[in-house]
Formats: sequence, C-alpha cells, structure tokens
Amino acid sequence: MQKASKIYLDHVSTSAIDEEVLATYTRLLKDYYNSDALYEDGVTVYRNQEKSRTLIAEMLGVKYEEIIFTSGASEANNLVIKGLSLLHQGGHIISSSYEHSSVDEALKQVAKYLGIKVTYLNPKKDGSIDPLDVKNALRDDTFLVTIMMVNNEIGAINDISAIHKVIKDNAKALFHSDMTQALGKCEICLKDVDMASFSAHKIHGVKGSGFLYKRKHIEIAPLISAGQQEFHLRGGTSNSPANIVLAKTIRKALKERETYGSYMQDLHSYALEQLAKIPDVTINSPKDGVFGLINISTPVKTEVMINALDLHGIMVSGKSTCGSREDEPSHTLKAMHIDSEYALRISFDHTMTKEKIDIFIKYLKETIDRYAR
Ligand code: PMP
Repeated sequence: MQKASKIYLDHVSTSAIDEEVLATYTRLLKDYYNSDALYEDGVTVYRNQEKSRTLIAEMLGVKYEEIIFTSGASEANNLVIKGLSLLHQGGHIISSSYEHSSVDEALKQVAKYLGIKVTYLNPKKDGSIDPLDVKNALRDDTFLVTIMMVNNEIGAINDISAIHKVIKDNAKALFHSDMTQALGKCEICLKDVDMASFSAHKIHGVKGSGFLYKRKHIEIAPLISAGQQEFHLRGGTSNSPANIVLAKTIRKALKERETYGSYMQDLHSYALEQLAKIPDVTINSPKDGVFGLINISTPVKTEVMINALDLHGIMVSGKSTCGSREDEPSHTLKAMHIDSEYALRISFDHTMTKEKIDIFIKYLKETIDRYAR
C-alpha cells in the first residue's frame, strides 16, 4: 500500500492491490502447474480456476460459460470489436467519441483494414450519451453498439439500460459496454448488455487480469488462436493464479461499494465543495458523475501542475494514463470541449480522507498562485 506521506489521487489509473488478494495471489503463483495438464496437480489448478469463473458468474447473475478471462479490459474491448468485425467483414458500428483508447484504436483498425463504417456519437453537455442519438444512428447493417458505462476521464455515467432498450426495440445490433470504471462503484446489470469488459487492477486486483462477459449464443472470432482455453476464444496457457484470485477481487469490490458507498459520496461532495471555492478552478465532471473521480481545469498547464504536486507527494493525472506520454490532446476531453493542456483528474478510493483532500487543495492553490500569474 502507499507510503503514509504520499497522497494518491490517481485511483482510476490503477488501484492499490488489496492485501488479502496479494497474499492469495502470491500463494497461487507457487501452484505453477498448467491448468490444462491432465495429472492431478494440473487438474486441481483447473478446478480452482473454473470455480472462480463460476463464482464470478454467480455474483454477476450470468452463466459460467459467459465469463472469458482476458489480460484486462483492453484485450476484452479488442476481442469484441475485432472478433465481431472479422466475422462481419463490412457493416456498421456505433460508438462514442470518448471511449477508452482500447475501443477507439480498435475501431480505427477495423475501419481501416476491414472496411467497417463507424459512427461516433458526441456526449451531451452533461457528459452522457443520449439514447435517442443511438436510436437515430442505427442502420440496417449496424452489427454492434459499443458505449462505455462510466467515462474514465470525466466520470460521466451512461444510462446503459435506456441505450439497451432503444437498440433492442429498433435493431438486431449487439450491445457491448466497457464497464471497467463502473464495477465497485455503480450497480452492474448484465441483463442490459450482450457483452461487457472488466479489469482487475481498477478494483484492487492484479494487473494483467480481467474478463469479458459475453452472452453464450454470440459468435465471435478469437484474437489469439491457439488451444482450447477460454472456450477456444483465447488461446495460450491460462494465467491461472490471476484468474483464480479474480473471484475474491470482485467479491471484495462489490462489498466495498456496499460498505463505503455513502462515505465515498460524502467525500466526493466535500472535494467538490472545496474545489468550487477556488475562483480559478472549473469543475468539468458532471454533477451526477461517478463518485471518486473529479476532472477540473486550472490556469496552470497540466504538466506543470502534476510536477508541482508531485514534489509534495501528491499524485494526480491529466488525461487517461494510457495516452499520458503522447502529445495528442485527449479525445475524451476534446469531445467535452475541455482544453487538455489545463485539465487535471483526481480520483480516490475509500482510504482517502478529508484531511488529505485539504492538503491537496492547499498545494493546488499554492501552485495556482505561483504559476498562473
Ligand atoms: N477501459 C477503461 C474505461 C479504462 O479506464 C481502462 C484503464 N485505463 C481500460 C479500459 C483498460 O484496462 P486494462 O488496463 O485492464 O487493459
């Protein structure tokens, strides 16, 4: 876990690993046997992995065969977009202009190499995607709609149930949602989607671990063609320690929401109140956005602000960490008409306190006073 003197305000980029998850994972690493081996020790690993799959399915109210372990949400998103596009070889996808880069880049690739047409819907002023816009964009050849549940840069929450309804009432298209930032923070209802992507390291789990939920009947082409693993949808030796500990990770994340949900709401409101008192700060996140994620604009360049706060042990980010070393402005912020050069994202979990938020506010103000004028 983080040093006492540090203030970690970059929780949506990645979260601190849970101690119990870490202990279990470390123990499991010693069970090195291949889960597809036919001798007893291999079969034990296989059984434990399949038990984890069953538990995850039960917790989310879906079927065992509908959980496909992946290396995380980026892979799950790519599997959906490329796996379906390979089967269609043409046709149309609807998405939004503020998806995570793993959706955005995969869409660019299928457009370029497979001739898929893509419609990108812009968010409304409140940051959400209008289900009516989805309805209006549907075409006879639309085979997929992919829209995230919680945006990772501004925290807007989309009405997945309403989007699902307009699709099912008007078209045959499948509906996928990147729910990476929603798990543990929002109520997840997989009845509202055909497919959904999840990642472990955003919920105090292990990096390089996640899964795709996919309704059983949906045909999809594998990206990694090899053996029988993951119902032939993802070949290669299974990452069994990560897959086994994922059930515990998810159970704890769901419990965390129950236990700390109201504390987090309170902390979120407190942070918003303190930020609103600073005249030079604009809050970019919607009022009803996800708790624990606040995007702001300040008069100081993002890079300067990140470095200045880092000197005081405060860790924040600008745009999505996956594009942090690229010069390009964030496409999400661009879609929201927010200048990437001055935007700052702070995000936290239940280990955050009002005292730590006060320290952040103090140094934020100090940095603005020092560099903005
Ligand atoms: N989607 C969203 C919304 C995310 O925030 C992230 C993580 N930045 C991902 C996908 C990618 O997840 P992973 O790191 O597990 O590939």
